[in-house]
Amino acid sequence: MATLAAAPPTEHVAAAATGRPNPPITGLSWAALQEVLAARSERPFRTEQVVRWVYRSTITDFAPMLNVPQALRTWLAETYAFSSAEVVTQVASADGDTTKAVLRLADGALIETVLMQYHRRSDGTGADRSTVCVSTQVGCALQCSFCATGLMGLTRNLTAAEIIDQALHFLRRTRQRPPVVRNVVFMGMGEPLLNYAACLEAVARLCDPLGAGLGPPRLTISTSGWLPGIARLANEPWPVRLAVSLHAPTNAVRDELVPLNRRYPVEDLLAACRAYQAQTGRRVTFEYTMLAGVNDSPALARALVKLVRGLDCHINLIPMNPVAELPYAPSSDEAVQAFHRTLRQAGLIATIRREMGRDIQAACGQLQTTVRRRPLVQEHSS
Ligand code: SAH
Ligand code: SF4
Repeated sequence: MATLAAAPPTEHVAAAATGRPNPPITGLSWAALQEVLAARSERPFRTEQVVRWVYRSTITDFAPMLNVPQALRTWLAETYAFSSAEVVTQVASADGDTTKAVLRLADGALIETVLMQYHRRSDGTGADRSTVCVSTQVGCALQCSFCATGLMGLTRNLTAAEIIDQALHFLRRTRQRPPVVRNVVFMGMGEPLLNYAACLEAVARLCDPLGAGLGPPRLTISTSGWLPGIARLANEPWPVRLAVSLHAPTNAVRDELVPLNRRYPVEDLLAACRAYQAQTGRRVTFEYTMLAGVNDSPALARALVKLVRGLDCHINLIPMNPVAELPYAPSSDEAVQAFHRTLRQAGLIATIRREMGRDIQAACGQLQTTVRRRPLVQEHSS
């Protein structure tokens, strides 16, 4: 593990003369920016120029926008912040494949964003690629019993700009050091479907061909099962992927792991997934975090097979990432393999997720910024 950057920040939240931070430029849609610039009697093509600099370059300030007149650059810098997030620290895992950024927002709230870089497989298949995992809330209200973010409780929703700026931070970085980010997963801190409007606004801006230009199927929204949000998502024009954090096929086990299950039990969740699929034709991903002695038995594997029968789905088995404050342990390799075998033998598409960034507490479910935890410094015995 290496600390890549402790202050000074590479991106900053500009302070206006009032002492209040300027609003971020990424909070404006294309149309809103066009309006703002038209009100200043700027020529219409200026909007595209500014958008390209913000979404498609590597700059982190207005000053280097060289084809934009100096007066407009100065006005933009006086009026807007280039980013809503300031990098506090950035750490990389020992293997270098995972980087976690701790970002400070204008109100002082801290969030975590993770970059995962995957390599072409040794047999020559696959490709180098980068994925950003963005947070959608400061903390989370849902308190799943095995998740570090759940320990924080909910402070607030993130704005669309705060979600977009997380993705842009690592997009800019990987444009300098490829592979460039092509995938964004809404799997960091928080429940995206409880911050629906901001998440969908972020999707729109990240997918806008004139903005970041990411492909909607490369964006994944993960939910612990907020049914009204799943139904709403099915009606959106963006064909983003839906991932559902299932973790257990029975209410008895799921009630303990995902308290939201008491409101929306497994059978209702599956009915919502079937309705989503009927409407969109899209495959659903189920995440299944494997906890030793809790949800990894052969009987539960068989119950899972029954539960998802007839649904086009992909089951992603995630070995639990340890959280010091929580009483769960990851399932053994043997239990994970046996569970996986049962699913495969029943004809299901199932994979075991390679966990990344555990050594920097950047893996699924380990993101947490307010509960006191062991520092991110490796101790040396010598
Ligand atoms: N709130 C959303 C998205 C963020 S959590 C959701 O729950 O889906 C992202 C994923 O990490 C979820 O599947 C979640 O269940 C999983 N997760 C939480 N804690 C974990 C842990 N300790 N180990 C492994 N996965 C975990
Ligand atoms: Fe919230 Fe997701 Fe963690 Fe549950 S697993 S507490 S929904 S972030």
